[in-house]
Amino acid sequence: MSMLHFEPATSQEALPSPSDPRMVGIVERVLAGERLSAEDGLVLYETPDLHLVCGLADIVRRRLHGDVAWYNVNRHINYSNICALSCSFCAFHRKKGQDGAYEYSLEQVKEEALKADAAGATELHIVGGLHPKLPFEYYTNMLSTIRECAPRLHIKAFTAVEIVHLQRISRRARMKYEGIVEVLRDLKEAGLQSLPGGGAEVFDDRVHDEVFKTKIKSDQWLDVHRAAHEIGLNSNATMLYGHVEKRPERIHHMELLRGQQDRTLKEWAAAQDIGTVNGEVVLTGPEEMYPAKRMPMPGQKGLSTGYFQTIIPLPFFPNESELEYLPGPTGLENLRTIAVSRLMLDNIPHVKAFWIMQTLDMAQLMLQNGADDIDGTVVWYDITHVEGASTHQETTVTDLQRSIREAGFEPRERDTLYRVVKRNGSDWSTSE
Ligand code: SF4
Repeated sequence: MSMLHFEPATSQEALPSPSDPRMVGIVERVLAGERLSAEDGLVLYETPDLHLVCGLADIVRRRLHGDVAWYNVNRHINYSNICALSCSFCAFHRKKGQDGAYEYSLEQVKEEALKADAAGATELHIVGGLHPKLPFEYYTNMLSTIRECAPRLHIKAFTAVEIVHLQRISRRARMKYEGIVEVLRDLKEAGLQSLPGGGAEVFDDRVHDEVFKTKIKSDQWLDVHRAAHEIGLNSNATMLYGHVEKRPERIHHMELLRGQQDRTLKEWAAAQDIGTVNGEVVLTGPEEMYPAKRMPMPGQKGLSTGYFQTIIPLPFFPNESELEYLPGPTGLENLRTIAVSRLMLDNIPHVKAFWIMQTLDMAQLMLQNGADDIDGTVVWYDITHVEGASTHQETTVTDLQRSIREAGFEPRERDTLYRVVKRNGSDWSTSE
């Protein structure tokens, strides 16, 4: 059976000519491997030359990843939806005793971990609400229980706001930043291996005060990830867009992430002979700019810390939230946001089209417009999902691979740290 195959414009020569004069300089800067400014970012969002924006993102994506597109075999555990906060965009949280409220016992967590391990998952992604009653030991016991019963599984757990909550309930609140470092050390010792990127929303005080006022602000979110990196944990970053924020606020969000990553990767860049201008570590230039390695990987020379691996732009879904009256972003806005993220976040190695929220069909298209990862097989995703989809969301490796191939890329399974996975059924090992 022949398969429909889409061949995107991948080379500089195949780029459409700019109809918008503001794009001329941007094209030159991207091709030369120079950092784009916040003003450039806004132009990328506003220009009618959407094909050109997407073509540039594809060139950059191919410089970093060639024709490889990543997926993983993972499972999600949302251990409880009971939350002390009530963010207005959130349809997941419940109050204790409310219809639909739940919390897992450690026995249930163990059962899920064993099932995931038996199914050959490489990663458990664990997040939940800010439970007002569970003690700190529940979380450390959860990690050590998984560590003991399924030692192969990589534990990626707790968004930044959960870490701040855990800092409070663990009473490690003497000095805010030191308290975060200490609580992360305790969690790491119990089995935590990396942090997911959730809860970043949009780094802007106006947006914060309007839709997630009681949640942590950008400085605390960034501090949690800085602390995680400091103790050697990698993490991801998200941006929840398409609600009350404006495009300049999204660009500001990207700039804050980019600035923090510059500081984190400074020593590594020097060790890899990557030239920096004003402390900027740009990884998206042409091949000749990188005499050694352009991709940070744990354990490399000059890299004693963790770092942001992946940016995951998340479209807002209004259904069942307090912001149900908002329309949410369109398909084209989602596509453009993936492309702009790839172009602006020049020091974050990966851009993920999270298929659960983008749909697998859109994720295919996004692979051709800046994304290089579509996430994994995912079982049970309670946080948010496309209208009409059940919380039991799962796809097969065969479907993921077919989707990637159909988009014109070579599927490659990764573990959480982007090491290549060699698989034989439910048995697997990494290349390192
Ligand atoms: S977004 Fe997170 S912190 Fe806010 S209400 Fe939902 S579960 Fe709670």
